[in-house]
Amino acid sequence: MKKVVLISLFILNIVFTGFSQELPVGSVSAPIVENETFNQDIATEQYLNTLTSEQKEKSDAYFEGGYWLSLWGFIMELVIAFIFLSLGLSKWIKNIAERVRNIHVQSVIYIGFYFLFSYILSFPLTIYQGYFREHKYELSNMDFGGWFSEEMIGLALTIVLGSIFIAFLYAVIRKVKQNWWIWGSGIMVLFLVFSMFISPVFISPLFNEYKPLENQEIKEEILSMARANGVPADNVYQFDASKQSNRISANVSGFGSTIRVSLNDNLLNQCSPTEIKAVMAHELGHYVLNHVYEMLIYIAILIFIGLAFINWAYNKLINKFKKKWAVSGIADIGGLPLFVFLFVAFFFVASPVMNNIIRSNEVEADYFGLNTAREPDGFASVSMKLSTYRKINPGRFEEIFFFDHPSGKTRVSNAMKWKAEHLEE
Ligand SMILES: [Zn+2]
Repeated sequence: MKKVVLISLFILNIVFTGFSQELPVGSVSAPIVENETFNQDIATEQYLNTLTSEQKEKSDAYFEGGYWLSLWGFIMELVIAFIFLSLGLSKWIKNIAERVRNIHVQSVIYIGFYFLFSYILSFPLTIYQGYFREHKYELSNMDFGGWFSEEMIGLALTIVLGSIFIAFLYAVIRKVKQNWWIWGSGIMVLFLVFSMFISPVFISPLFNEYKPLENQEIKEEILSMARANGVPADNVYQFDASKQSNRISANVSGFGSTIRVSLNDNLLNQCSPTEIKAVMAHELGHYVLNHVYEMLIYIAILIFIGLAFINWAYNKLINKFKKKWAVSGIADIGGLPLFVFLFVAFFFVASPVMNNIIRSNEVEADYFGLNTAREPDGFASVSMKLSTYRKINPGRFEEIFFFDHPSGKTRVSNAMKWKAEHLEE
């Protein structure tokens, strides 16, 4: 579902990847350090040294490849916009849509075709990124059929939900004209809230099975932490992520009454109880600190700025290429490829801002987790396990720019700092 172009799910994707703490498999043994001689810097080094140089190289390569993939993804969007507008695909689809009289139905037909063709055009990148590359790094447990059928579910969702939402957005744009971007921001935020609300109840179950925690031993400890922090115990779930990959993960999803914490079975099966406790306490941090609502406010501000930018850039470009692209203005559904491209371009440029917003929440959740679980070594060792897919020790600016979660080194070092302040306990 990573490659869906649907505007709302695009933003949602940012939110969900932001909140999921995906932790890959590996085995790390906690360095044993005597209390009297504990030195946080040495302890951090000891954790970092548990990675062999091959493991580190592989991890760096996977993560740095991601920087390039986001650039290729952006270039792909540019190519798609070019094919639709300059090569006439948009005009052709519009002609088909215009065989129907009703303007709203025309929009729905156009949007449906738009999503279908953009999916087909970007498929080579999608299959490389989502299937071959994941297998190359031994992160995927899916055969081609399984992977492809999930892609098709994602595409169907994009087409159905996307067509309804965008057709509605265009109906409003046609009504309010001039100030469309102010109204548009409000509608996008409402749709985002709606998607977040239904996501854990109607969307996630299409991909995985969710159920209450099963392992009685771990369950009691986790639910006790939840109760102690005001999180209703029936809002904690487990799901069968091992179907897709061997990454360990947990996340907070939903909105209002559907908000919940979900732990995946890889985490439960492959981590020690102290590691699970440390991760769970981090997720409870997102819940207790209301990060979902905080993120929504930040995203709403970004959407508002983004649509103001689109309003400006769209008019400039249309004035120039009106004839060539056969697009009359912002209310013309045939201009959707330009709209989507400008939206993606804005969020591509804003991604370091987005990363910093998410990462600052992640750091807060880390501290909350350390104070709640009081398992600095559990947290440090599980942070090291991230290394199979997240660069463990990036440069300072690399972390600021590209990381939406703290790096392994930052996390281990914070955990050891915490430990140094609590040695007598
Ligand atoms: Zn998190």
